[in-house]
Amino acid sequence: MNYRIPFNRPTLIPGAIGCVLEVIQGGRLSGNGPCTHRCESRLTEITGSRTALLTNSCTSALEMAALLLDARPGDEVIVPSFTFVSTANAFAMHGFRPVFADCRPGTLNVDATTISPLIGPRTRAILVMHYGGVACEMDEILALARRHNLIVVEDNAHGLFAKYRGQPLGSLGALATQSFHETKNVTSGEGGALLVNDAALVERAEVLREKGTNRSRFFRGEVDKYTWVDLGSNYLASEMQAAYLLPQLRASELVQSMRAAVWDRYDAALGDWARANGVDRPTVPSHCEQPSHLYYVLMPTASARARLIDHLKTQGILAVFHYVPLNLSPMGRKLGGTEGACPVAEDVSERLLRLPFYTNLSADDQNDVIAAIHQFRV
Ligand SMILES: *Cc1c(COP(=O)(O)O)cnc(C)c1O
Repeated sequence: MNYRIPFNRPTLIPGAIGCVLEVIQGGRLSGNGPCTHRCESRLTEITGSRTALLTNSCTSALEMAALLLDARPGDEVIVPSFTFVSTANAFAMHGFRPVFADCRPGTLNVDATTISPLIGPRTRAILVMHYGGVACEMDEILALARRHNLIVVEDNAHGLFAKYRGQPLGSLGALATQSFHETKNVTSGEGGALLVNDAALVERAEVLREKGTNRSRFFRGEVDKYTWVDLGSNYLASEMQAAYLLPQLRASELVQSMRAAVWDRYDAALGDWARANGVDRPTVPSHCEQPSHLYYVLMPTASARARLIDHLKTQGILAVFHYVPLNLSPMGRKLGGTEGACPVAEDVSERLLRLPFYTNLSADDQNDVIAAIHQFRV
């Protein structure tokens, strides 16, 4: 079905196509080239992170993070249940058993109280995912990790441009990952990045991305030939992907101001309707700067959500739900997940509805979405 107002349209800004053409005409398309390096330096500016390595996806960056942690048999990582598959899958693929933590009502993030009871002798790392780019309570999580000598990895796919107590997300864990999938604020179609904040991990991360070779050092002239030195794969983004992404990273203030206008308009227009119908809107604590990644409403029941989806559909508007809790998924169950283990995630996942949200959503189209919602009674 074709929707008049789709759920997502990839961000497209003036100049992006010209930049891709330039790279194609320049004749260097493979990865780890000049456009990649420009994206990486812009990413370190935005996030305050030590090193950024552009990858072909966030999933790849998560796999690199898992490889950098070197699983020993029996090792576990604590992952949110309410997140995208890759947060857990990347670690399960590389030898870790994921243990699913419930989220808290409100921000829908994991926090120290949901993580703490799951820490055991085999726990190596805590994975956090900042839902909608609203930061997890990182002071408490980082303190907990320090007490138990655990590594913190941020799946920051939603959180580029967001802050926690003034600190950019992506700079708080030893490692963090970004996504430039077409549903994210800035995009290269597919794409991602690994942010490395622990200096000791940088060199090995470069090797993992370059098929297990020290080719990055060779490019910098630090060794006179490159060779196979470790395990690795090909996690590079091509220069064409980097060329599409770069102008968006450079014009991030424009992209972010357009998205903030969409977020603020939904939130202001839906307040009275939400209160009258027992609907919750996103919770953003005052010490969190959220990045206008998505907008959702939390309906009072699963059936009210189903009816609102159908109502919007009749007007050509696509609204969609979000994550199935990982502890309930077929693979999550094989890894030890059980029903009832994450009651908040299990409840919220049945009631949460995301509204159409993209950088170029026009005020007129958005007003149509809002008017359609106003017609709906729970
Ligand atoms: C989008 C997303 C991913 C996966 O990103 P890809 O770039 O498609 O691999 C991982 N985690 C979260 C939380 C996401 O939203």
